[in-house]
Amino acid sequence: MKKMGIKMLQNKDKIFNNIFGFQSNKLSYALKRGDWDKTKKILSLDHDVIIEKIKNSGLRGRGGAGFSTGLKWSFMPKTLGERPHYLVVNADESEPGTCKDRDIIRHEPHKLIEGCLIASYAMRAHKCYIYIRGEFANEAKILQSAIDEAYENKLIGKNACKSGWDFDLYLHRGAGAYICGEETALLESLEGKKGQPRLKPPFPAGVGLYGCPTTVNNVESIAVVPTILRRGEYWFSKLGKDNNTGTKLFCISGHVNKPCNVEEEMGIPLRELIEKHAGGVVGSWDNLLAIIPGGSSTPMLPKQTCDTITMDFDSLKNAGTGLGTAGVIVMNKTTDIVEAIVRLAFFYKHESCGQCTPCREGTGWMWRLLKKIASKDASPKDIDNLLELTKQVEGHTICALGDAAAWPIQGLFKNFRDEIEMGLKLKKIAAE
Ligand code: SF4
Repeated sequence: MKKMGIKMLQNKDKIFNNIFGFQSNKLSYALKRGDWDKTKKILSLDHDVIIEKIKNSGLRGRGGAGFSTGLKWSFMPKTLGERPHYLVVNADESEPGTCKDRDIIRHEPHKLIEGCLIASYAMRAHKCYIYIRGEFANEAKILQSAIDEAYENKLIGKNACKSGWDFDLYLHRGAGAYICGEETALLESLEGKKGQPRLKPPFPAGVGLYGCPTTVNNVESIAVVPTILRRGEYWFSKLGKDNNTGTKLFCISGHVNKPCNVEEEMGIPLRELIEKHAGGVVGSWDNLLAIIPGGSSTPMLPKQTCDTITMDFDSLKNAGTGLGTAGVIVMNKTTDIVEAIVRLAFFYKHESCGQCTPCREGTGWMWRLLKKIASKDASPKDIDNLLELTKQVEGHTICALGDAAAWPIQGLFKNFRDEIEMGLKLKKIAAE
């Protein structure tokens, strides 16, 4: 039955109780916060029991796609054959507006490391790689120091946590390409090749890192696993809404009084999220123009939708956008909305790996047309051409970057076409 009326998340239900970094990230403090508690007992469960529990928790991937984490794990082979299994953790967080994995690594690295061990064990992997974005130089140092601490205390390594399971964890730094956040590009890069997405199928669970069964998961998806198993999968599934369970880290930026990262229950109303945690919109809620709800690739929502929308996968999908990474970018009425999307279009043009033609040519073309419209030196026909172009790119590329480049532009004209056309007309009249 659908749950009504989301309550605010209580402190006792928070998973990331040091996400603001008020306490040390060192092991001795992590232990006090409950990390590494009963890990040996969790590892005494059968591999498939752990996968089943994660499925029952309703956890959906926190990296953007929102696919069931437990189901994804279940695609890995059930027996360990000649080819080793790998877990690869995607810490290449590069989506504009998103900085939650960064703060998990900074302030809660042991949650991630413990999650790596348990998730790897569940999927019968003795080795795990964390691929961290190159720009996260300090975070890489922090994480490596936490990994060293875990090795020194025999929490990982041979006979990890005295469980009988051998487990090695490696940290790999990327070189600063957004596209390496796409799972197969990440694997290519990890193998030492140019970071370009692979055609799927085969999927990584069959042929992944070094041709072996591999699962790629987001940092937050893995870091919540130990708490879910300690507190019980039904504790997690009771939080949030049906099919959108648990808690989530939201990153709130842009025209708010107090930009922040905060953990809240899935399904929290967007307005409540912003007013309770980010000090409200600069100039008041009535000064709101639009919000990008889930990182730069998700289409924006106009104010009237923001008034009532809740922050979960299904509600946002039904509103024609997505929860994505939950990177909430707030724009008030001082924003030149076309210029804002021009900036995003340039980002996607710059980050296209160039492998497939619609994306390589289309991202540049979309950016140039949008720039023309922003300068108001365009006609309504240019808008039609641009929208047609987004349709030619969307769904016709190897990876989702093509869609990510097309959607913000489609969202712009879906919500603001009349105002943009009026701007073009006014410029024309002024020139006559
Ligand atoms: Fe590369 Fe773009 Fe094609 Fe993805 S869609 S493979 S980024 S060219």
